[in-house]
Amino acid sequence: MGDLRDLYQEVILDHSRKPRNFRCLEEADHRVDGFNPLCGDKVTLFVRLENGELKDISFQGSGCAISTASASMMTEKLKGKSTQEAMRLFDEFHDLVTGKAGQGADLGKLAVFSGVCEFPIRVKCATLAWHALKAALIGAEHSVSTE
Ligand code: ZN
Repeated sequence: MGDLRDLYQEVILDHSRKPRNFRCLEEADHRVDGFNPLCGDKVTLFVRLENGELKDISFQGSGCAISTASASMMTEKLKGKSTQEAMRLFDEFHDLVTGKAGQGADLGKLAVFSGVCEFPIRVKCATLAWHALKAALIGAEHSVSTE
């Protein structure tokens, strides 16, 4: 298990140092600011929807390694997905990091966050970008806070 854990940490470190899709999306039709006061993580999520599909998705912000890596890997995973699929993955990811259920079978690399459930304070770091995503897809809010 030790090696596997190291591998997981490597993936998270890699994404936190070189976040993917880390840019402002000029043509975004949804923009949501997320804030996790417990850790000080900030994320702004940009989404461009087209025909019920996440045509493009990006983020900016600053936060701990977990929050940045989670946002980075989420944008990688969700680009091109339907909004329905994105909502389903939100639930799957949420269950994974809160230790509720499932192995995150459809989450691919995002399954590295399963270890987060052992650290309740980190759950909010890992889910910040996802909550922003959900708000963007529902279109109800322009900012979310984990509190
Ligand atoms: Zn954090």
